[in-house]
Amino acid sequence: MTLTLTVHRATDQIGGNCIELRSGDERLILDVGRPLDAPKDATGLIPSTLDVTRPATILISHPHQDHYGLLEEAPAHWSVRCGEPTRRLMVITANVTGRTIPQAIEPWSTGVAFNIGPFQVTPMLTDHSAFDAHMLLIEAQGRRVLYSGDFRRHGRKSTLVECLMRAPPEDLDVLLMEGTNLGSDKPCVTESDLEGRFVELFRKTSGRVFVAWSAQNVDRTVTLYRACLKTGRTLVIDLYTAEVMEMLAEFGRLPAPGWRQVKVVMTAGLRRRYGGVDGDVFAERMAKLGMSAAALEQPDEPFVVMTRPSLIRDFVRKGVVPTSDDAWCWSQWRGYLNAPDGAAVKQWFDAAGSRADHIHTSGHASTSDLREFANAINPKTLVPIHGVKWDENQEGFPPITRLKDGEPLAL
Ligand SMILES: [Zn+2]
Ligand SMILES: [Zn+2]
Repeated sequence: MTLTLTVHRATDQIGGNCIELRSGDERLILDVGRPLDAPKDATGLIPSTLDVTRPATILISHPHQDHYGLLEEAPAHWSVRCGEPTRRLMVITANVTGRTIPQAIEPWSTGVAFNIGPFQVTPMLTDHSAFDAHMLLIEAQGRRVLYSGDFRRHGRKSTLVECLMRAPPEDLDVLLMEGTNLGSDKPCVTESDLEGRFVELFRKTSGRVFVAWSAQNVDRTVTLYRACLKTGRTLVIDLYTAEVMEMLAEFGRLPAPGWRQVKVVMTAGLRRRYGGVDGDVFAERMAKLGMSAAALEQPDEPFVVMTRPSLIRDFVRKGVVPTSDDAWCWSQWRGYLNAPDGAAVKQWFDAAGSRADHIHTSGHASTSDLREFANAINPKTLVPIHGVKWDENQEGFPPITRLKDGEPLAL
């Protein structure tokens, strides 16, 4: 029996991953990602080459939309496996955005192999800007495939990648590897370097420091909290981030509501989402712990305040006004600043004369790290995915098999 690999989507774009491994009638689908450029409410995005009439098991590598965002369109009776933190983060996001995940999800244990039909799957925790990101080792029909998911070598979990490079799976037939940063010079400094830069910014700012970062970028929340501890500032997070951090508390030593130098700001928009006055237990507890946005305007301690366009609307209603003593920092991909939401944030601070800074590092491996990783893993062939510059950057990599979306490869 042959093993067939089909990349339904992601051979020539960043994200939207949908990859099938088939052995006879049994199929694994590695990620069902939403393309990053798909309009917000677009539907019918499942690749047409993916047969949805027959059963399959979906494996979700990590909780980023470009890897799981099409679960809502996939058949409800398909089974889904992923890490437990990933499951929780997907559910939280679905609740906040009013979407649903129709399938039953069965969590796996990191590092513990399991079988699905003829496939043996070993999920391996890796370093990425998403919490609980995994690479997947899949063995079937005497073949061995490693799916990199999204990864980097410069975050707080870089040791995991180093260990894998030192002791890679033997006799690997295929490495399916992401190439987001291939051919680019995006900054790939470490999270600890960022911590130093935040410390510097917090020290030289006399007023508040407003920071825009993703609530689910847990590495970044940790970095900001550590910089707060070093400079005597208090990290003010929103209700959504508070929920994320509280929910992940059992998976690591992560700053959460109730910790010293952490405060939760109660904003009208998010309060409504969490069930209002007499709704949700979490919201009620946070109401006791939390502070009003109005308190941001009369700070009795130095704050680092989470910022986002939807939060700014609620801050403004409570009379919060930035000043030239304040600083603001964009701690996400710079490209988002050009979108209307990002531009609105920039304008709010620019109008007040607040100092601007951009402190960020990529969630993905640099070009040289991609090359070193691929060579250390040493597969018989590398199948490029999740990148747009694979055609002109193949030098120095193991032998490459360039597939087109939907084109099957017999292994
Ligand atoms: Zn991705
Ligand atoms: Zn990702």
